Amino acid sequence: MVKRIVILGSTGSIGRQTLEVIEDLGNQYRVAALTAGSNDHLLSNQVKRFRPELAVLSDTEAAARLADRVSGLGCAVIGGEEGQIQAATWPEADIVVMAQVGFSGFIPLLSALKKGKKIALANKESLVIGGDILKRLGLLNSDYIIPVDSEHSAIRQCLGSAHPDEVAQIILTASGGPFFGWKKDDLDHVTPEQALDHPNWQMGKKITIDSATMMNKGLEVIEARWLFDISLEQIEVVIDRQSIVHSMVEYVDGSIIAQIGTPDMRIPIQYALTYPERKQSRVERFRPFGKTLHFEQPDRNSFPCLDLAYRAAMTGGTMPAALNGANEVAVEQFVGGSIKFTDIAKVIEQVMNNHTVIENPGIDDVIDADIWSRHKSVEVIDELSGRMM
Ligand code: NDP
Ligand code: MG
Repeated sequence: MVKRIVILGSTGSIGRQTLEVIEDLGNQYRVAALTAGSNDHLLSNQVKRFRPELAVLSDTEAAARLADRVSGLGCAVIGGEEGQIQAATWPEADIVVMAQVGFSGFIPLLSALKKGKKIALANKESLVIGGDILKRLGLLNSDYIIPVDSEHSAIRQCLGSAHPDEVAQIILTASGGPFFGWKKDDLDHVTPEQALDHPNWQMGKKITIDSATMMNKGLEVIEARWLFDISLEQIEVVIDRQSIVHSMVEYVDGSIIAQIGTPDMRIPIQYALTYPERKQSRVERFRPFGKTLHFEQPDRNSFPCLDLAYRAAMTGGTMPAALNGANEVAVEQFVGGSIKFTDIAKVIEQVMNNHTVIENPGIDDVIDADIWSRHKSVEVIDELSGRMM
């Protein structure tokens, strides 16, 4: 049977690789809808090639340009955030790939899950801010959310059909990013160009900076907590500089199962699309000869974002939304040259220190926390810049 795929964020790093995988998989997979933020140029090319029934851009002016570019192709074009929800709940869709970046993924994810859609989830931010809500709504069913994030795909594979009581801990691996081994003083002078140069993975800007600060691993700890319904105490982070081991599960009998492979996102993307089956892939194979495994502790002092994420997760309620909003703003400001690399953690910490947590939040509470956090981050950044002048 043909599987019909919707991709939210099809113009991004994960979105583009998902389209490559779909092409490789052949005619058993069809693109039903594609969405992006504002890139009408690339989206129109994708529409011409994959002929979806629906294309959406959140930016309404860009959507108008897109409609012109693809007129006559039988593809409906919608502009605005509402269109993202329409794509996420597209009636004919078998799998919805969530590959958009940031907070904007949350409402489409929630809407898709409510409609019983199967999700291939790359957008970790939506679980960070809304995992608690999805859990209380009974929407965190592992048959319906298949992780795309390489570590979580690895964990899913290592867990197999294990009973929760058999699992001792999850060991999340991290590459350590481009600044592994650097100390706080050195990190003060890091430029956006240096931070955007990741040693092992080609990714979008936001996640590349998150990897450099180790916030990415913090967000992934929270993501793992919700995806695998496991306590924070049972999640350990280790550095594997080569990104060979994508993560591990330690069982109560002391046995550890690891998932290993070439660091190529097309492997977990394809697994999420073909799950629970496996299909041929043309990705370069990992060959073990001459390889060694070497693991190190993360440097929590030089990279405080990891512990900020643990703290937000332990506090719970709206705190992860506050953390995420502050991180999104701080990363953008760092890339734009307004703050230093080391200010990213400072901004997030100050926003968290000022946040009044709402426990057991509803949807409006996390949206409000996100908006508040973004405003507060700008205030904190203004103070920091004042101090720098
Ligand atoms: P990119 O920045 O490369 O792409 C982001 C995508 O989201 C683009 O298609 C962009 O559209 C779209 N987008 C931006 N704003 C909106 C909006 N308001 N509404 C709808 N779509 C929007 O990001 P990545 O592909 O790197 O990452 C996507 C997600 O996957 C992130 O959550 C990331 O953490 C996660 N992830 C990524 C990995 C990777 O290897 N890249 C690995 C594991 C997880 P436009 O082009 O028009 O701006
Ligand atoms: Mg990852």
